[in-house]
Amino acid sequence: MSISVFDLFKVGIGPSSSHTVGPMFAAKRFLFNCIEHFPLTQIASLKTELFGSLALTGTGHGTNNAILLGLEGEEPASVDPELIPARLEGIRNSKKLNLLNEHIVPFDEKKSLVFFHDDLLPHHSNGMRFSVFDADGIKLRGEDFYSIGGGFVLNAEEIQNTTEIDGPQVPFPFHTGEELLELCAKTGMTCRELMWINEQTWRSESDIWEGLLEIWGVMQECTQRGMSSTETHLPGGLNVRRRAPGLYKELKRNQEPSPAELIDWLSLFAMAVNEENAAGGRIVTAPTNGGGGVIPAVMHYCQRFRKDFNEDKIITFLLTSAAIGILFKEGASISAAEVGCQGEIGVACSMAAAGLAAVMDCTPRQITNAAEIGMEHNLGLTCDPVGGLVQIPCIERNTMGAIKALNAARLARRGDGNHIISLDKVIATMYKTGKEMSHLYKETSLGGLAVNVPEC
Ligand code: SF4
Repeated sequence: MSISVFDLFKVGIGPSSSHTVGPMFAAKRFLFNCIEHFPLTQIASLKTELFGSLALTGTGHGTNNAILLGLEGEEPASVDPELIPARLEGIRNSKKLNLLNEHIVPFDEKKSLVFFHDDLLPHHSNGMRFSVFDADGIKLRGEDFYSIGGGFVLNAEEIQNTTEIDGPQVPFPFHTGEELLELCAKTGMTCRELMWINEQTWRSESDIWEGLLEIWGVMQECTQRGMSSTETHLPGGLNVRRRAPGLYKELKRNQEPSPAELIDWLSLFAMAVNEENAAGGRIVTAPTNGGGGVIPAVMHYCQRFRKDFNEDKIITFLLTSAAIGILFKEGASISAAEVGCQGEIGVACSMAAAGLAAVMDCTPRQITNAAEIGMEHNLGLTCDPVGGLVQIPCIERNTMGAIKALNAARLARRGDGNHIISLDKVIATMYKTGKEMSHLYKETSLGGLAVNVPEC
């Protein structure tokens, strides 16, 4: 599979890449597939069925809302988060949906959006089934989609034949850490340089440069909004306080932070992003939303505390971390419904460690060592969001991911790149651990903290 840096870093909205971003894409894509076969005006009613993890945590993760917006033709990168509440209220009050903003149909949410908590579609825990009917109730079309993590969506055929949706071949293909290292050794190039050439399969050099800076710009806006929010609590009913604004005020008073306060800054950046995510704000999937605070936090840390963090280093960070993200996407999974939080915070930590190591001018071997350490100490990490919301443990967990990434990069830089456990071994171990993990800990909110917190 050829994966671009822009597949891993996408502009979206909170709170979840697999449960919000993916379903919104799927809903819109389904209707676009319909209009290849019949006009939208033939549709008199529709039904969406959600299965597995999408059903179990879909309400807390905003899946229902994302589906409605997708059916109305919205996309995660362009929908205005500020306007979403009024838009949803309008749909629910009027009981009407404006399909692709072209054709209005009646919409009874109870009958038209159904959650199957105990059932799964065959290929993944995040399954969706869309159906549309004509005025006589005859089904015009039905299609299943799977949200496989990080906002990636596949239909039933694609998920069974991923090799057939390979896309263009890149000049320097790599599928394992070992292959990546071999390519670096053979060409004398860094991970960033290989990625830079591979990316030109899809875009011009100027588009890659500008696109990556744009991604960084969205990360910065998100972090800034999170640090300066005037809202005191997050939505969803858990009464979780927004802590980033208060911490920001406190930290910025001290112009010369102590070493311990450097860690506080790192935590602040991660919290700011994930509080914005929990509030349904604009965010970059990095490579998911739930773990989307780790990479921006480490990058903001570099910006604040490293004098050399210029545009070139930003590009180095994003391309190198994406090289590691590709290895996890191809060799394991970035879906919490498949492998638990290892696939979100764990992967983000590993990617951030590699990005930071590259910024610190580490060798390719030290970079893969940093990535390996970043995942090794997230192995077995479960996903058990309280109330099905991406808040507890998710927000603090991003701070932990960022701190581990910093430590992983520093440990790797102190070594010579040789390490007993290879990156490939840790990726394989993460995947196997995820497969063997009980479904109670894979984004279902049926185990762990999710069932051990007293109701408020
Ligand atoms: S526990 Fe981890 S994987 Fe689960 S929703 Fe939270 S951040 Fe995502």
